[in-house]
Amino acid sequence: MKDNKLKLKNYMEDVVALLIDELIKDRDMCKCEHCRLDIMAIALNRLVPKYIVTREGEVYAKTDLLSRQYRTDVIIQLLNAIDIVSKKPHH
Ligand SMILES: [Zn+2]
Repeated sequence: MKDNKLKLKNYMEDVVALLIDELIKDRDMCKCEHCRLDIMAIALNRLVPKYIVTREGEVYAKTDLLSRQYRTDVIIQLLNAIDIVSKKPHH
């Protein structure tokens, strides 16, 4: 257990990463890594970060993430970011 360093993590990154795929999968738009990351960056910049302390390599249940109250905020910001990026991809 010596390598389990404590670290800070923005919990919202995981919520965004988890929800982006289901939001873009039925859309007629570019789904490359660049566009996905652009969407995530825009959404995360507009969301209030939620930092938590975790141990390296620690995983928490995804169902936990989805039941949180910020799910709605994340979806709103993701849809807005998808709109921006799909109209003007950075490549
Ligand atoms: Zn793209």
